[in-house]
Amino acid sequence: MLIIDKKEALHQEVSLRRNSGLKIGFVPTMGALHQGHLSLAERASKECDIVVVSIFVNPTQFNNPDDLKNYPRDLKGDVVMLQKVGVNLVFAPMVDEMYPSGQKEAPLPVDLGNLETIMEGKHRPGHFKGVVQVVAKLFEMVQADVAYFGQKDFQQLSVIRKMTLQLGFNIKIVGCPTVREPNGLAMSSRNLLLSAEEREEAAAISKALFFVRDNRNRFSPPELEKLALQQIEKSGRMKVEYLEIADAVNLERAVSWTSDKPLRCFTAVQFGKVRLIDNVPLSEKDV
Ligand code: AMP
Repeated sequence: MLIIDKKEALHQEVSLRRNSGLKIGFVPTMGALHQGHLSLAERASKECDIVVVSIFVNPTQFNNPDDLKNYPRDLKGDVVMLQKVGVNLVFAPMVDEMYPSGQKEAPLPVDLGNLETIMEGKHRPGHFKGVVQVVAKLFEMVQADVAYFGQKDFQQLSVIRKMTLQLGFNIKIVGCPTVREPNGLAMSSRNLLLSAEEREEAAAISKALFFVRDNRNRFSPPELEKLALQQIEKSGRMKVEYLEIADAVNLERAVSWTSDKPLRCFTAVQFGKVRLIDNVPLSEKDV
């Protein structure tokens, strides 16, 4: 496994393999890896000849400076994990390598529409602009055939699909299912910032989402949203930022049940200083 921190070297190594006809799979991450990230690398490894994983904590997508400062980092541990799942290239650049002229760059001509004003877009102003900025740079550098993203960050996946279309990247985007702890908590690098006891309590988030999925015949969407929110906030230590049942294609909020449209339930929860997000599909038919 090669570990590279310069974009020229990355470009050279990938071009060499691509020119010999090999299919390149790419998994962008911010490191502090867990089984969720590894599931993407494993899928890439099954479907592609060469797997590239990037590890970069992108400052431009953090709307909260403390979140950036406290974000867990463990490059050594990450490298050991990636070696075990057959990754070929790890790209772990410093900030200057990604933003040679500083972080203030002109925003890319991508119109995210409602994605920028609802849920994560609403509560993390500028976040998706930063995501688009860094992923577009990485896509240009890696020139992969397929890129793998987690449904854990479902709205981000929608943003990436939109960006890929609008900027005309010739790359297939694959969404992969959320990997969970045995208690149901969605795996996240930020879980490392919770104590073992808090992680047990945070399982109430996914339990509430599964409650929504399992009770859709008994209540209307707004009623279920309210019940799920109450379940999460019951202990008094977690505060729900939003909890919404929405169309899985355009993420517009659902006010009634429709049999033909795939729906998902999305939430963001503040647990002390840690912000957790999760979502689940509500029907068999999914995107
Ligand atoms: P991050 O390092 O948090 O930026 O995540 C990198 C990629 O891993 C993103 O595409 C995430 O959606 C994905 N990911 C993060 N957590 C999980 C999880 N629990 N299951 C599946 N994919 C995940």
